[in-house]
Amino acid sequence: METLVINSGSSSVKYQLLDMPSGRVLGSGLVERIGEETGKITHKVFIRESLKEVVIEERIPDHKEGLKKVAALLTDDEFGIISDVSDVKLVGHRVVLGGEKFSSTTEITPQVKEAIERLSVIAPLHNPPNLTGIEVAEHVFPEALQVAVFDTSFHHTLPDYAFRYAIPDYFYTVHGIRVYGFHGTSHKYVAGRAAGLLGKAMDEVNLITIHLGNGSSMAAVKNGKSIDTTLGLTPLAGLVMGTRPGDIDPGVLLYMAGSLGISTGEMTKILNKESGFKGLTGFNDMRIIQEEYEKGNEKARLAIELAAYRIKKYIGAYIAAIGKVDALVFTAGIGENSALMRERATRGLSHLGIAIDNERNNAAAKGERDISSADAKIKTLVIPTNEELEIAMQAWKIFGSK
Ligand code: ADP
Repeated sequence: METLVINSGSSSVKYQLLDMPSGRVLGSGLVERIGEETGKITHKVFIRESLKEVVIEERIPDHKEGLKKVAALLTDDEFGIISDVSDVKLVGHRVVLGGEKFSSTTEITPQVKEAIERLSVIAPLHNPPNLTGIEVAEHVFPEALQVAVFDTSFHHTLPDYAFRYAIPDYFYTVHGIRVYGFHGTSHKYVAGRAAGLLGKAMDEVNLITIHLGNGSSMAAVKNGKSIDTTLGLTPLAGLVMGTRPGDIDPGVLLYMAGSLGISTGEMTKILNKESGFKGLTGFNDMRIIQEEYEKGNEKARLAIELAAYRIKKYIGAYIAAIGKVDALVFTAGIGENSALMRERATRGLSHLGIAIDNERNNAAAKGERDISSADAKIKTLVIPTNEELEIAMQAWKIFGSK
């Protein structure tokens, strides 16, 4: 059955059409630069096993027009893969923050939309565009069941001592300030795959999942459940990211605001867009940073070492939190592709039972693989994430239960 997965951002919409329950990808694409002078749609479809790509550059005034164009492409005579929009029976939406309310995937109702809207105070950059995507999809695919899959749901199992901040109680009880965590769909997906590779049931596997993309986070997974994670109330905490700093002494922010007179708006920009790898090196793309590192660029060296050291500290912390760990799992753009980052982050950990095999780590392999050395007690796996498939699988479960 045709299932559409939508990830709606502030000026972009990523989509993928899958056949469920087989999980086969029928087509995918990206609508970007929505609202700008010239928008762009890159649409890819598999027709009779071969990949066809169409690129359209024209003004896309808003998300609604963007999704209408996607629907037109999906049903196009030449590039189409369905005959009518009503063929799409299920739409799975990525929603970044589900707060305490949503511990699992849910059918979208007016009450669910209201709740997503209310949570926008905490996730102002993400929840509003996610909600726009939902409203637009309801309009363009009116016959489909619309389902919300929350990035935070997987972390619902965090114990209170892991999700609370040590600040006055009412900030939590009245304002909901706590760790929510993100990337849950990815952590859950790779944890499930890792359990399979290790020959264990999900509820008996213990893992440290390490998602390193533009945004990065780690999760401590005990008996298949997330018990701690590095992102917090917002996606700024924890690891060093493309443009976000990760952990920082809150006093630094007070100093910036108080003594340096930097406004809240400017701070938001610095912390979301100008920090992390970008702030340290001027580049946020790990491929470029690695090239610079090879050339002897000192800023690139520092950025790589700082980021790897942060990962290593959390590996240690999560071993302490979990107890006996079966495997580390690297995933997402950097985790799947950067042998250098994997090597640096695990270097010198053989006393903890972690050791990777250099040849396996550096092999030009893609796909799921074990890169541990033969004597490692804790395996190190590389597992490509597939958030779209996870969203489709979760949405499919809701569809099946109706
Ligand atoms: P997003 O969080 O946007 O989904 P991705 O998971 O695609 O991000 O990861 C993007 C990051 O992965 C970028 O820093 C990019 O440079 C890095 N990356 C992609 N391919 C490689 C590669 N071959 N080697 C090193 N880094 C890579």
